[in-house]
Amino acid sequence: MLSVWSQLDDALQVREQAHLKRQRAIVSSPVGVWQTVNGEKLRNFCSNDYLGLANHPLLIKAAQQALAEYGTGSGGSHLVSGHSHWHHQLEELFAELTGRSRALLFSTGYMANMGVITALLGKQDAIFEDRLNHASLLDAGLLSGARFQRFLHNDIESLEKRLQVDARRKLICVDGVFSMDGDTAPLKELSQTAKQHDALLMVDDAHGFGVLGEKGLGLCEQLQLSQDDAPILMCTFGKALGSFGAIVAGCDTLIETLIQFARPYIYTTALPPAVAATNYTALKILQVEPWRRQHLKEMIRYFRHEAALLELPIMQSTTAIQPLFIGDDQQALQWQANLRQAGFWISAIRQPTVPAGSARLRITLTATHQEDDIDALLDALTYAQQQIGK
Ligand SMILES: *Cc1c(COP(=O)(O)O)cnc(C)c1O
Repeated sequence: MLSVWSQLDDALQVREQAHLKRQRAIVSSPVGVWQTVNGEKLRNFCSNDYLGLANHPLLIKAAQQALAEYGTGSGGSHLVSGHSHWHHQLEELFAELTGRSRALLFSTGYMANMGVITALLGKQDAIFEDRLNHASLLDAGLLSGARFQRFLHNDIESLEKRLQVDARRKLICVDGVFSMDGDTAPLKELSQTAKQHDALLMVDDAHGFGVLGEKGLGLCEQLQLSQDDAPILMCTFGKALGSFGAIVAGCDTLIETLIQFARPYIYTTALPPAVAATNYTALKILQVEPWRRQHLKEMIRYFRHEAALLELPIMQSTTAIQPLFIGDDQQALQWQANLRQAGFWISAIRQPTVPAGSARLRITLTATHQEDDIDALLDALTYAQQQIGK
């Protein structure tokens, strides 16, 4: 055997012994409250389909119609032959809804973050990231070659201290809603700080878009931040919008720079036109079915109220992400197993996804949950807690 394989086997074993091995569950039903997972029917509290759009009949119809008209693949990259009228219309609608000059569609959120940060920054520049930012933002910052600085979570003072460096360009980069905590970034304060230091602010609103704001346009809408306040906005279609893909919006110079220089935009096949058509329809549904956001809000309120009465370790979050803080990795897995036994699908999040010693159960609520689902969840959590205490 080549020595490289035995080295890697050792590393895999170390990971397993530290209770950090990841395993994939095989799903054989559509996303929803009840899902078949490894052949077992479980109540799902871990999807990011926050509005329950992944099975919306109008989205399915939009996809089918576009498939019939355009076939399966886009046939090329955006700059060569793959940029269809559906991709273009989606960009225009997103820009119009969010009050941005232009928008640019990417294949995934990971690639959008990579594309923006590496196109804007190089060795002479500096990037400032919240330490709890999504992995894609952190990876992009490192790859860009810019001076890389992380500041304490949601801590403006910590950011300001780091902003004192000399650099050609400064980019402050945060999640709008933090993906493993569910809390939100203080965007107003961040925006002011950015302006004072002649820095750009980039907001990744993967978990706020669709859910927050009067029209569901995310944290920037909720806080009424214009393009001037939050010049780079990234949103994804794979979460609350029930589909796939990502989009970046901002001024003409930003978008033109990305088209010319963002390698993850240039060197990849454009999304299937049917996916762009689905995303377009999802944006329209956001506007005409506000009840989904309202119901989700009600479920969040109900869960937090009841969980607090039961003294469960809920975290400071008002969004659809409602983690329970466990701390120890092995114990988090035990909670997950106990919940599975009780018929619930909830995933334990461990290091390095979250800092060591802060393992948690990442419970997510959606517009498809009802009060009785949450009552059942609370019973199961109480059961799981008792099992651990034994
Ligand atoms: C999911 C997520 C991404 C990545 O988006 P994909 O489209 O799934 O690649 C980026 N940022 C945050 C904060 C996310 O939660």
